[in-house]
Formats: sequence, structure tokens, C-alpha cells
Amino acid sequence: MSEAKALTVDELFAIDSLLQPEEREIQQTVRKFAAEHIRPHIADWFENATFPVKELAPEFGKLGLFGMHLEGYGCAGTSATAYGIACMEIEAADSGARSMISVQGSLAMTAIYKYGSEEQKQQWLPRMAAGEVLGCFGLTEPDFGSNPGGMRTRARRDGSDWVLNGSKMWITNGTVADVAIVWAQTDDKIRGFIVPTDSPGFQAHEMHKKLSLRASITAELSFDDIRLPEDAMLPDARGLAGPLGCLSEARFGIIFGSMGAARDCLQAAIEYAQTREVFDKPLAAYQLTQAKIADMAVELGKGQLLALHLGRLKDQDKLRPEQVSVGKLNNTREAIEIARTCRTILGANGITLEYPVLRHANNLESVLTYEGTAEVHQLVIGQALTGSSAFR
Ligand SMILES: Cc1cc2nc3c(=O)[nH]c(=O)nc-3n(C[C@H](O)[C@H](O)[C@H](O)COP(=O)(O)OP(=O)(O)OC[C@H]3O[C@@H](n4cnc5c(N)ncnc54)[C@H](O)[C@@H]3O)c2cc1C
Repeated sequence: MSEAKALTVDELFAIDSLLQPEEREIQQTVRKFAAEHIRPHIADWFENATFPVKELAPEFGKLGLFGMHLEGYGCAGTSATAYGIACMEIEAADSGARSMISVQGSLAMTAIYKYGSEEQKQQWLPRMAAGEVLGCFGLTEPDFGSNPGGMRTRARRDGSDWVLNGSKMWITNGTVADVAIVWAQTDDKIRGFIVPTDSPGFQAHEMHKKLSLRASITAELSFDDIRLPEDAMLPDARGLAGPLGCLSEARFGIIFGSMGAARDCLQAAIEYAQTREVFDKPLAAYQLTQAKIADMAVELGKGQLLALHLGRLKDQDKLRPEQVSVGKLNNTREAIEIARTCRTILGANGITLEYPVLRHANNLESVLTYEGTAEVHQLVIGQALTGSSAFR
């Protein structure tokens, strides 16, 4: 094997040359935080199906990770690309940690930021940005995932109050949240409601036996005649465009984040292959191994470049939802493929929590599914290119 110093994938694609100084600084800061506060514990958290949300939330808040590219209300106000890069660094440690940040910032806070009244924004956003108040986002129901428009959760008027009934499923942070953004049918289309989780009639139960995103809390929510004041409703969201506007934000973070998970797998696989000897020489010195590594590096680099391109479009306010679908579809699909291929390089060791590869691969099963499944994004792109909707 050559003695030449090995390049990282970032170096191979000169990714660094495309980052602004502030983005590089955020990358280094978040990478260091993840190395010190997440990586040493993540295998145990994953094994024990737990995540210290309450402990880490204020730390994430101090780093400015919640609603990072939103303006005002205690948010960091960085570029969207910088937020994406932060997602990449957190998800390189674990997709569960990135999910927690996405739900807080891109879903719950974004719903209030985009569609809330000034009073609602002042009341909730600064404390959510600081990680003092945790939010969750209730859209999916047991019978309605890809087709949320069919939801059965309903809010009806009673005098000036609202009365909320129904249930939600697969809700990240559902049992630890202080406030839930709940989407419900009303006589005037689907509307979003800010629901404090200590409201009488609100229940959250943690979902167990997950084989993916184990270091992330997932819950079922139920609403039994929850009485809410008139101003619990988000005034500027009407119809499915409301939740979809938030999902687009979270998908954006995933485009970057999934590449972080893939990068971590590839790094682990290359290091392993360099030291593992098979048939009397390092695994890395075999052509079959190098073909896998080269192909994965090419896909990882392409995915990172796509993420940066979409980040730059977003920073110019030019990013279209179909383009978000291109990024979400490609980068989650390639990330899981990379994670699985890396697992083969690690052989039996690859199936353990001593190495990150199968943990990432398992996590990416959820990442491929939530925020619009791969098939849903194919349909979005298909519709954009042909003009024909094939959803039904
Ligand atoms: C760990 C985890 C955390 C989550 N967190 C949240 C959260 O915080 N908040 C929230 O609201 N939701 C959350 N979700 C739910 C997630 O968004 C849904 O699982 C997702 O939208 C898919 O819905 P579904 O699981 O009901 O699958 P389904 O919609 O039943 O889809 C099943 C299959 O059918 C395919 N399919 C669907 N429609 C079509 C079509 N028209 N044509 C062809 N194929 C189709 C899908 O692509 C998929 O392969 C989470 C999910 C997971 C796994």
C-alpha cells in the first residue's frame, strides 16, 4: 500500500473551499461539541433507547442550533447553509440528535415563526431558541402518514374557545415536549394549534421496540376534549401548505444531515480497512475494497455538493420545494446505501455498537421515511417534470 497521506472525502472534493469563514467556524464548533458531548455516550444511549433531551437542549440552545437561521426572537440568524452544516456535524454523531434539533427548530419553532401572531412569537420563540422550552410537531396519525390531508384529529369551535380531539403517532419528543404544534381539521381547513402539553386531556406515551433512531424519543399523542383559547391557533396557516412549509425546512436540514451520517460511516470503514488484515495484507489494499470506497466517496461528495448548492439557493430565497425533494431523495437514499456498504467492509464487527455503521444505517431507515418517504419525493419530482400528479 502507498505511504502517501490519505485524503479525507472533504479534501477530495475541496468542500472547504466552498464554505464561508462563519460556516467553517460553525462546522468546527459543532463538530467539537458532538465529539465531546454526544459521541462518547451515543452507543449506550442507542442501546438503552434513551436520549438526554432535557440535559442537552440548553447546550444546543447555547450553540444557537435551535431555529439557527431564523431572524430575531433569540435565534442565531445565520445563513441557511450554516444551519445545514451544523445538521451535518450533529448527524455525523447520530441522526437521533439531529432529529431532536430539526423538530425543535425546523418544525415547532418554524410553525410559530412562519404562521404565528407577534404575541405567539414573543411568548414561545426566545425560550425555545434557548432550549428552555421544548416543542414537538404533531402531523402524522396512525392511518395518515404520507397523506396527512386525511387526518381525523379535529378542532371545533365552542364559543370563542377551541375543543381538540384526536391522536397523533410517531411524534418525536412527544413525551418531553412542553408544547405541541398540533395540526387538526376545522370547519375552515386544516389549522395549526399551539397546545401546552400540561393541558387537561393531553396524553403522551412513548413508543418502544424501535430498531431505528433509538437515541430519540418517539411518542403517541392523544387529545381528549382539550379546551384551548382562541389565540392558540396559528393565524397564518390554512390548509396543508402550513405543515408542508415546516416540513420543507426540516427536509432541508436532512439533506445535509444524512451526508454527515454517511461521512461518519465512510471514515470508520476506511480506518477499519487500513488496519484490518485479511489474507496477510490490509483490507484497504484490495481492489474490491477500494472500488467500494471510491464509489461511496463519489456519492458522498456529490451529495455534499448538492446540499451546498441547495443551501446557496435557499440563502438567495430561490429554493423550490421540488429541489428540496431532489436533495432529500438523493441524499437519504445514498446515505443509507453508503452505511450498508460500509457495514460490509467491517464484517462481523460492523454489526456491533463498537462501530457506528449499523447504528447509522438503522437510523437512516427512519430518515428515509420521515419528512416524506423516498417514494413521495419521487412523486413530487415526477409531478414537477411531467405536470401529472401520480399521488392518487
Ligand atoms: C422515528 C420517526 C420519527 C417521526 N417523527 C415524526 C414527528 O415528529 N411528527 C410527525 O408528524 N411525524 C413523524 N414521523 C412520521 C413520518 O413522517 C411518517 O412515518 C411518514 O410520513 C410516512 O408515513 P407512514 O409511516 O404512515 O407510511 P405510509 O404513508 O403508510 O407509507 C407506506 C409506504 O407507502 C408508500 N406510499 C405512500 N403513498 C404512496 C403513493 N401515493 N404512491 C406510492 N407509494 C406510496 C410510502 O412511500 C411507503 O413506502 C416520524 C416517523 C419516524 C419513523
